[in-house]
Order: sequence, then C-alpha cells, then structure tokens
Amino acid sequence: MKYQRALLRDVQGYTPGEQPKGEKIIKLNTNENPYPPAPQVLDAIRNLNVNALMKYPDSGSEALRAACAKQYGLPNADWTVAGNGMDELLAMVLRAFVDPGDDVLTVYPTYSLYEVLCNIHGCNLRYIELDEKLLPTDSFYSEQARLCFLTRPNAPTGISISRADVERFCNAFNGIVVIDEAYVDFADDHCMDFPERFDNVIVMRTFSKSFGMAGARIGIAAAQPPLISEFMKIKDSYNMNILSQTAGLAAIHAYEYMQEQARKIRTTRERLRKELITMGFEVPPSQANFLLARWTGTPVTATLFTALRERNILVRYFAQPRLDDALRITIGNDYEIDSLLAALEEIISEAK
Ligand code: PMP
Repeated sequence: MKYQRALLRDVQGYTPGEQPKGEKIIKLNTNENPYPPAPQVLDAIRNLNVNALMKYPDSGSEALRAACAKQYGLPNADWTVAGNGMDELLAMVLRAFVDPGDDVLTVYPTYSLYEVLCNIHGCNLRYIELDEKLLPTDSFYSEQARLCFLTRPNAPTGISISRADVERFCNAFNGIVVIDEAYVDFADDHCMDFPERFDNVIVMRTFSKSFGMAGARIGIAAAQPPLISEFMKIKDSYNMNILSQTAGLAAIHAYEYMQEQARKIRTTRERLRKELITMGFEVPPSQANFLLARWTGTPVTATLFTALRERNILVRYFAQPRLDDALRITIGNDYEIDSLLAALEEIISEAK
C-alpha cells in the first residue's frame, strides 16, 4: 500500500481482549468489574440537560479534575489531567515528554499497550525481564531512559513491588516515571502521594476497573503542575465528552460505593486463588482484580483456554514467552467464579 508511513510499516496494532456480542458468555478476560457503578452515575446521565449535549463540553474537565484532586489528596485541579480512558493518557505522555528515537523503559512481562504506543511514536521500548518471582531484578533500579512505565500492581501478573522499591526507583531515575495504578483500588496501598514528593512522577488511574465504568472511558493523571501543563499543550481540545465528565464526577462523589465493590472483589479473589491452588495451579498473590494462574499439568494451558471457551467461559491467554503456561482470570461475581471452577474441574478430570 503506497500511502503507508515508513514508521508504521512493521507496526502491529494492539490486540484487545475479545468482546463477544449477543452470546451468553461468562466474561473473565478483560478485567472489567462484575458489579455496576453507583446508582448516582446513571442518575447523573439521565438528568443531563439537553443543552449540555448541544454545546461543547468543558475542554478542561475542570469539575471532574477538581473532584479527583480532592478525593486523591492533591492540592487542586492543576495537579490533574483527564483522559478518554487511561489509554489516551498513556499515548499523551509519550507525545508530551518523549522524542522519537528516545529510550523508554519498562519490565517484561507487563501491559502490552506500552510497546504498541512506543512503536507508533517511533521511540525505543527497552524491556528489563522480571525475575522468577516476577519482580524486577536489582539492575532495574540503575537503568536510565527518557521515561519509564511502572505498572503497580503489574499486569498481567497482579504483583505489586513495595512502595519503598518504587521510591528507590524514582530517586535514582532521571526521566519521567509513569506509575500505572489501573488496578490499585484492589491493592493494599498506592503511590498517589508521590507526585507531591517527586517532580518526575506521574500517577495514573482509570475508572474502567474498580468503578465498573470501562464503557465510559475515563482516566486521570496526577503530577506537579509544570508536567500537567505539558499534557495541556498536546491534549485534544474536547478529549472528554460531556457524558463521561458527568458520569465520572458522579462516580468520584460516590467513592465509598466503589470501595465496597472493590472489597467484595478482593474477597472473591482470595477464595478463587485458594481453590485454584488446591486444583494444582500455581497462583502468585495478586493485588489486582485478576489472577495469573500457571498450569503445568494435563491438558496444556492453551487447551484449557479453548475448552473453557467452548463452555462459554472467556479468560485471557497470552501466547508469548513467560506467559504461555498461564491463564489470566478476571475476578467475576460468585456465580461466574463457581461456574469457572466447575468447568475447570470437568476439563481437567476428562483429560486424565
Ligand atoms: N493500564 C493497565 C495496566 C491496564 O490493564 C489497562 C486496561 N487494559 C489500562 C491501563 C487502560 O485502562 P483504560 O484505558 O480502560 O482506562
């Protein structure tokens, strides 16, 4: 195709998890929340004045940003920027702080979108392999690059490095540190205090997981105002539509509702982990709303995945190094998890 850009010739786009339509499927493959958002969220959308649809939305998403700053203990809205999902903020951070040709750092395995975004931007993503326990090696803490994506809890492993280790990294690193906290509401602690302490740290959150609002596409980044100003330079004028701004504002005001759902998911997570270990899976402790369950028995893991799919249970399988013996399972509601466990028992005993 003669119109193609040289940069994009070998670029593969991101492959999102399957979103099946119209089937009765137990969907445990893309880390959505099995519980709906707070009732106030739908109420707020229903109560929108038609004028709000007719006019352009607030280009700065001021109300949403101010409410998030307050909730997250940041000085004010100037410490935040809103994005059309965290994915947009991840693309924006490269446009704002990384020149084509620059080095970007992350660990392997981690969220695979970083690699796609770096390829599209023309910068070099350098992976540092995690050790056997899926933790960064000592050498990671002396690496340098223009920017580092640090996912905490990490995906698809669910493992969090300690806050002390994040601090050690931020102190040593000369570039921008993006702490991706997509799953942090399911974890024991967070790093939202780091932007006030480090001029090179950007913490990112999403409403897709703990708030149960993946369809609304809302993400927030927190950093010192000089960094936020750089985001504002490259941001699309109206990147947050009025429905998302309204829904996000209602959700952040109902923060305790979200925390209650996250607590339920954590309880189910621990139950599922115990059951999977009893069945012979190896399951690292997870701080997220999913488990990475390694299987070295019979049948092979890829067959487990397809056999679950045939039973209308969708989990995530990554056919790539370090991950191809594991299933990543989103924590669903009790019915979904019971169905998954029953199906796994059946598949494994049939293979014996
Ligand atoms: N970071 C990580 C680690 C994720 O797994 C995801 C969801 N796929 C995101 C960021 C993006 O979240 P969203 O764009 O839905 O806000």
